[in-house]
Amino acid sequence: MVDVEIEGKTVKRLICQDGKSFQADYYIAACDAHVVYEKLLGGNYPDREFQKRFNDPGKYPLASNIYVGVGYAGTMDHLPRTLKFPVDKLPIHQNGKPTEHLQMTHYDYEPDFAPQGHTVITFAINQFQPELEEWQELVKDPEAYRQEKDRIGKLVIQAMEARFPYMAGKLTLLDVATPQTYQRYCNAYQGAFMGFWPTLSGKSMTHTGRIKGLDNMVLSGQWLQPPGGLPIAVITGKDSIMRLCNKLGRPWYQT
Ligand SMILES: Cc1cc2nc3c(=O)[nH]c(=O)nc-3n(C[C@H](O)[C@H](O)[C@H](O)COP(=O)(O)OP(=O)(O)OC[C@H]3O[C@@H](n4cnc5c(N)ncnc54)[C@H](O)[C@@H]3O)c2cc1C
Repeated sequence: MVDVEIEGKTVKRLICQDGKSFQADYYIAACDAHVVYEKLLGGNYPDREFQKRFNDPGKYPLASNIYVGVGYAGTMDHLPRTLKFPVDKLPIHQNGKPTEHLQMTHYDYEPDFAPQGHTVITFAINQFQPELEEWQELVKDPEAYRQEKDRIGKLVIQAMEARFPYMAGKLTLLDVATPQTYQRYCNAYQGAFMGFWPTLSGKSMTHTGRIKGLDNMVLSGQWLQPPGGLPIAVITGKDSIMRLCNKLGRPWYQT
């Protein structure tokens, strides 16, 4: 969706990038809050609670991660499914500091995830506000961005080989996803994987999703209850349906 047609307090239709449009009585914007307020609604329906947070990344920082996919020419049923191991200060920044541990997950238990005798491994490397801003800059130079992903992938493989010497030569880099990957695919604001990250000075928020000035459109999803996450996304979706049923005088659940 790239635009919203509004008359008075009523959303009339949603317009897609390819020119298609959709009409409904009610609209639930189940996507990134920044996209809804700033892009779809053009900043014309500001929300005090969200503005306060978006304008103060010190108190309300964002977080995300780098996901590295690696293939191993071997089986890993002798290792726990998830494993965190120390590494020698890898030059991959996390909150401005080098990485000191790697967290891996392997999928040996799922035979369909890799060819027979091979295993897929993922590494999740957390990223915080400083890195999110660096990725935003770096992605503007596609070659530098590609090289950085490659560098990170190679560092992870080297660290894996140092931890498990018998894996040397059997590890292949499959892919590196960065916060900008989540921005590109999911429109995630600054590539954040969840909502505002909790800090000692930040206040918690439970938002109803009501968009002041619009009668038939609400926001739903993880941003309503930072720091969000999958369970919150699901629960706020249910809450949005309950509120709509309440407004329409209908039971929200029928057997
Ligand atoms: C790598 C990674 C690992 C994670 N691991 C965990 C975990 O272990 N546990 C956990 O609880 N959470 C985890 N999360 C977070 C979890 O994925 C999110 O909390 C959850 O997906 C949020 O759901 P949502 O429906 O609010 O938003 P999203 O999942 O972001 O869904 C929004 C949808 O809206 C679409 N959209 C955006 N803009 C538009 C537009 N203009 N028009 C039309 N469609 C649009 C997007 O394409 C997307 O499909 C992880 C996230 C990532 C990236």
